Amino acid sequence: MNRTMTCIACPRGCLLTVTGSNDNLEVSGYQCPRGIDYGRQEILLPLRMLTTTVRTMSVESPRLPVRLSTEVSKTRIFECMSVINHFTLNRSVKAGDVLIEDVCATGADLIATGGFDNEG
Ligand code: SF4
Repeated sequence: MNRTMTCIACPRGCLLTVTGSNDNLEVSGYQCPRGIDYGRQEILLPLRMLTTTVRTMSVESPRLPVRLSTEVSKTRIFECMSVINHFTLNRSVKAGDVLIEDVCATGADLIATGGFDNEG
């Protein structure tokens, strides 16, 4: 294997090269040890943090920003988005409230990152 990728663990964006086999991966191009972990993780089980919005019942504030509570496998993102896209918020919430527990059995909860007043 010989793959290049940009490390997204910090804004520096080092260009990493990962070579070798899955049980013996070599990472080069990093400027700190987090790049080694990122390069290996991207090959073995890529993870992503999902941030998006959900629909609300409000005409004035029709979307509320949300995120998953933890990173999930990159392969599960579309599945999670399908559930999130079918969700409509119909109650008041504050930032940090859980809107959906254990989305698609990933272990990640859907969390409000802003407040929503259903009465307003
Ligand atoms: S290798 Fe380290 S310095 Fe480079 S982008 Fe990744 S986290 Fe940032």
